[in-house]
Amino acid sequence: MSAENEYYSSIVSKFKKLENKLDVSLILESRMFQYFTKKQAEFNASIDRLKSTHYKQIKIFLKENMGLMIAPEIKPTYKFIDECDESIIILKELLELFEAVDFERLENLRKLKPILESHPFKERGARNKCQELIQSCEDEIYNLERYINDFKVKILNRYSIESFNSAFGYYAPNPILTRDRIRVNTFICWIWSADQDFEAFITNVLCHETAHAFHHQGQDFNNKRCQNFRQILEEKYFFEGIAQHYTNQFAQFYKKKLPDIKKTFDHMNEKLMRKNSPYRWHETWEYNKQVIKDAFIKSRQKKYMDKEIFNKILKQEEENYHNQ
Ligand SMILES: [Zn+2]
Repeated sequence: MSAENEYYSSIVSKFKKLENKLDVSLILESRMFQYFTKKQAEFNASIDRLKSTHYKQIKIFLKENMGLMIAPEIKPTYKFIDECDESIIILKELLELFEAVDFERLENLRKLKPILESHPFKERGARNKCQELIQSCEDEIYNLERYINDFKVKILNRYSIESFNSAFGYYAPNPILTRDRIRVNTFICWIWSADQDFEAFITNVLCHETAHAFHHQGQDFNNKRCQNFRQILEEKYFFEGIAQHYTNQFAQFYKKKLPDIKKTFDHMNEKLMRKNSPYRWHETWEYNKQVIKDAFIKSRQKKYMDKEIFNKILKQEEENYHNQ
């Protein structure tokens, strides 16, 4: 069997596991599958780099910026497709997106536009024709992007934010319930980010889940674990706010390695998340990162934490910072 065929059968067998829940032939005949098959090498290479390079950088960054003495040692699991029902439904809906949008064409249009723009035509007729082409490229890109965006907003509105986000990956606080502490569901991330940078997207997902794990299980400089260990898991705004703040910080820091990482993070938040979502609460913290870091370290020593208490700690730390 050729390498290509082998790969094809391994993908097919992964899909076959979903057989009862989803029509496999629908996937295999779809435009999405054809596009995915072309991109398989890139897809695998991105995941390899996530495992070997990006995850190491995430851990170093979070440990230092969260002010931890000891960070938990966790080996994330990368699953092609999660078996959970919610992500199956999303997968089915995202299949529709590929039927409506030709992602290969979008990619080519994006490549073509700067080439046309940089080409110096001397003759007036040719110059005008080129200008027309640039304009039609721009219009088509705009329409496709708008369609994709509207479609994603429609899907997001149908799910509770928590169930939607766990489709991409999760951090499991309780090892009794599941074997995987940190999980990234790679295929659904790939479909969702087909119009963006997939590698940047999965790096954001992994950073977010790792931030949860470090917040929850990391040890402070006094060797103590977070004192509100159990209780914070219920505080969606606070718990997600911290994970998002550090994911944002990491994206900012890591731009030199993955140029699109910050753009991908902002896109998800600005375009797709509701303004009052727990995933955007961190945007209301108008303090510098040292103040937020000090507040975070303080918050770990409290027996009880919530949104209001964290806001108070932030204000106190802001005053301390200026009085120094
Ligand atoms: Zn989260």
